[in-house]
Amino acid sequence: MTVVTRFAPSPTGHLHLGHAHSALFGRHAAVAARGRFLLRIEDIDPTRCRPAFVDDLMEDLAWLGLTWETPVRRQSEHLADHRAALARLEDGGLVYPCFCTRKEIAAEVARAGHAPHGPDGPLYPGTCRALPASRRQARRAAGDPFALRLDVTRALERTGPLRWYDRARGWQEATPQILGDVVLARKETPTSYHLAVTVDDALQGVTLVTRGEDLFFASHLHRLLQALLDLPVPAWHHHPLLTDERGERLAKRAGAPSLRALRAAGRTPAEVRGLAGFPERAA
Ligand code: GLU
Repeated sequence: MTVVTRFAPSPTGHLHLGHAHSALFGRHAAVAARGRFLLRIEDIDPTRCRPAFVDDLMEDLAWLGLTWETPVRRQSEHLADHRAALARLEDGGLVYPCFCTRKEIAAEVARAGHAPHGPDGPLYPGTCRALPASRRQARRAAGDPFALRLDVTRALERTGPLRWYDRARGWQEATPQILGDVVLARKETPTSYHLAVTVDDALQGVTLVTRGEDLFFASHLHRLLQALLDLPVPAWHHHPLLTDERGERLAKRAGAPSLRALRAAGRTPAEVRGLAGFPERAA
């Protein structure tokens, strides 16, 4: 089977060394297996994404020496695919509208005292899960904003136990319940990161999902969505995040130098590949 990997940046800013590491990691995994490497633009959030960053990131990646297949999939152009997947989950009774504001959720969590926590903080306490159908209809008819959440318990009952394979950590028992009833879409946006990434990886034929360890827990949920939507199941390889000399993560917001800043400072592509954890092999 041909190995297909991808790099899937969100154009919310300029790429930095952490992104370069991830992109090179995916590209090397494809090359090592004589496979294919794709680029996907994850631009479903119009409030945070800018078209100019798309042009810039492609320029940066090309400068770094990367090549990828065309056409490049831009998620914002494929919302119909995500909408169709969402409709299927809704038809299966696995999604419910949640009208809670962030404030209400925080208050409910505080009231509960020992609210269960997941890797990203306290879990949604499930307030709207049991809302009667008439109340849901009334609130929707009134135009109240809402999020569509996955009923993870019901979904797991439907699929039974699931497993997934990570090349670094081996077989994993899927435990998507650690993330709670995640948001899959909102009134105005027919998708979310979780839904779009799962649908698009399947539609693009990705066989090996390479990405940073910060998204390790998300893969539990993606495995569940694949089972619910009858999608093919890839393997995963979550790589450690690149850290600086002090061991701090080169996160997007931590002020890490962008690739273009390094380039402007006179660094060569080979030097930057080295800084990104992919030094040239000695001849
Ligand atoms: N778009 C995500 C990000 O930039 C990565 C998605 C993925 O690799 O699954 O953080």
